[in-house]
Amino acid sequence: MENTKELRTWLDDLKLDHPLVIAGPCSAETEEQVLGIAHQLKDTDVSYYRAGIWKPRTRPGMFEGVGALGLKWLQKVKEETGLKTATEVANRAHVELALEHDIDLLWIGARSTVSPFIVQEIADALKGTDKIVLVKNPVNPDLALWLGAVERLATADIKNLGVIHRGFSTYDKSKYRNNPEWQLAIELQTKFPDLPLINDPSHITGKRDMIFDVSQTALDLNFDGLMIETHSNPDAAWSDAAQQVTPKTLIQMMIDLKIRKESDPEAEYNTNLNNLRAQIDVVDNQLIEMMGKRMKIADSIGGLKKQKNVAVLQSKRWNEILGNMVLEGEQNGLSEEFILKMFKAIHQESINHQEKVING
Ligand code: PEP
Ligand code: MN
Repeated sequence: MENTKELRTWLDDLKLDHPLVIAGPCSAETEEQVLGIAHQLKDTDVSYYRAGIWKPRTRPGMFEGVGALGLKWLQKVKEETGLKTATEVANRAHVELALEHDIDLLWIGARSTVSPFIVQEIADALKGTDKIVLVKNPVNPDLALWLGAVERLATADIKNLGVIHRGFSTYDKSKYRNNPEWQLAIELQTKFPDLPLINDPSHITGKRDMIFDVSQTALDLNFDGLMIETHSNPDAAWSDAAQQVTPKTLIQMMIDLKIRKESDPEAEYNTNLNNLRAQIDVVDNQLIEMMGKRMKIADSIGGLKKQKNVAVLQSKRWNEILGNMVLEGEQNGLSEEFILKMFKAIHQESINHQEKVING
């Protein structure tokens, strides 16, 4: 996948010929672990070395990070490998310590972006900084909250801004740890094309074997970079073990993703086409997932009808659904003919599911 997108601002200054890569462990654990991984990522496409120093954990009593001590290890990483450093900050004290230790890139985590008070405190502490500050999306799919955080930072005269798309929490468990809701990131990109947009496939998937595909989708959707959790012994990681990859896997992934720039006279056309096709793929996958959900509900209805010995086909209810869907379809620019055909097919599949449940 070629990168034809014009590079801008701080990204421009990096003069990369490929998307930005931020990599490193979820958490800094020990000095040996932090330095060991960093040395394996030296002289690769990785520009920024990430490590969580303070970890926002869902339940108390879990590993909450090594604290300020880890910042010294990150300083050593920079001295020994030349990699720039990155960590999450969640309050004024974190910011002050991170700045004292010359961390190059600070990000605001998903659990902080939901809180305007916290974001304001961080913005005030960072006022006027020339460090790079990235805002992860809030845990809930709320674009205004995400943008509001960026605005608070911009108002505090922080110029080197960007955003990280790490997916959104849902009650319904899907195959993702955090649902990507790509359309939200696309909407943000459309509104603010100059704001660098980084994808975090690690927190989206929660599973290392899904990271490649999500990364490729992100690059196809014209994201500016990737943040990928990387650990020399992922299964033994103190946090987010299932979603971390080894440096070796990461390096192979960077080759396979073909993130190197290719020159192509048709580049703009191809980028636009790929971008649109990737959006179609995302929506098609959503359609299939929704159909699967619908048929699971049909199975449950089949179970109820079986208990009560009620017939599968309920014509009155079905005609009501059809009438409503034709109207909804009209409002969404879909012809009556299409709606009738589509719902006939859906209805048939639903009946097949219910009959299977009832007849066993
Ligand atoms: C992290 O990057 O390790 C992290 C805690 O991320 P998020 O804020 O996206 O959950
Ligand atoms: Mn993590």
